[in-house]
Amino acid sequence: MKKVLIKNAVLDNKNTDLLIVNGVISKIAPCIEDLEAKVFDVRQKAVMPAFYNMHTHSSMTLLRSYCEDLPLFDWLNNIWKREAELTAEDIYNGTRLAILEMIKSGTVFFADMYWFHDAIVKAVESMKIRANVGICFMDSLGKDAINANFDYAKSFQKSEGSLVDLGIAPHAIYTCGKELYRECFEFANENGFLFHTHLSETQKEVEDSLSQTGMRPVEYLDSIGVLNDRTLAAHCVHLTPKEAEILAERKTTIVHNPCSNMKLASGVFDSEQAIAKSCRIALGTDGTSSNNNLSMIDEMKFASLLAKVHYANPQAGKVNDVLQWATVNGANAVGLNAGEVKEGKLADLIFLNLDNERLVPNNDLASNLIYSADSKCIDSVMCNGEFVMWNGVVENEQEIIETAKKYIRDKKRV
Ligand SMILES: [Zn+2]
Repeated sequence: MKKVLIKNAVLDNKNTDLLIVNGVISKIAPCIEDLEAKVFDVRQKAVMPAFYNMHTHSSMTLLRSYCEDLPLFDWLNNIWKREAELTAEDIYNGTRLAILEMIKSGTVFFADMYWFHDAIVKAVESMKIRANVGICFMDSLGKDAINANFDYAKSFQKSEGSLVDLGIAPHAIYTCGKELYRECFEFANENGFLFHTHLSETQKEVEDSLSQTGMRPVEYLDSIGVLNDRTLAAHCVHLTPKEAEILAERKTTIVHNPCSNMKLASGVFDSEQAIAKSCRIALGTDGTSSNNNLSMIDEMKFASLLAKVHYANPQAGKVNDVLQWATVNGANAVGLNAGEVKEGKLADLIFLNLDNERLVPNNDLASNLIYSADSKCIDSVMCNGEFVMWNGVVENEQEIIETAKKYIRDKKRV
């Protein structure tokens, strides 16, 4: 049995201790004593749930600030050329850089979609956080590569202590035909994998879908039977009320990516409609080349402010809604009993420095976290009961940054 005792945390403005047993919060109370536990004194840091980044392409950190100010399809064409040059080693190093950034900004889980999934799995395991590594499928890969992806997924075995699962991730309706979608969905269902796709991101996608299938994107995917409660649908910017109802009925999780949607001018996700229709909503950063960072703190602020501006209503994008999208809703979407600081929940936690100038005065911590904080307010981060950042320091961070810089030098980009 592995026990960790956290002394002197602040929860809901009260001083408390937390006892964590085998990665689960087992007791929250003042003055806990346990002689078997390893003790960490957090010295009056506020404890909050960590973040779950539900849609990203982690190793695109290597393409950060490359190719700016273009609409989605022009941008994609440029990005795909650069991506073709990436090796498995690049992906490993790019993912480590992404995870460093995520840990520093309080994220302990990400749902990924990319190539070289084996390199991504190794990077996540080396940094001891959680991830769902989505294996990206497109028709253009060809039958052999598609079958090799399924074979990899079928034979995948976690190493000991690994917090990584795989996902099956057909890229989008404009890169995957009906057959591939169905094949991916059946495989995911039969083998218990998460199903993850881009959906209804741009107006062009909607128009093409209407002209090719006579249906809008959500209607089309529903008609071929690939939406369920193990599906993550990234973006969902252009939804009719009927499409929102379909997603709610299927219990599909919509992943809202406000920064990426704004940066690529894809449109505004209708969050009020989705809330009214009882859709499941989580939050993601998308990749760094369309964001350009992986901070869920920033993402929450953009999500909230975008909703307020879009509806000209200060009551849209409420603090508690946005915080739930970034925490418990994401955890629930992948079946993790986490995202809240409560007994019985997984110990995925952040500890905030209440002396940081951005958190003073502390009239409302959740509000401060969304509208005022940046990643420097986060002192320590715990994933599954283990600190992955302690007092602002992540293991090997200098080496991770130097290796990523070297990739850029080698590509003669500076
Ligand atoms: Zn994406």
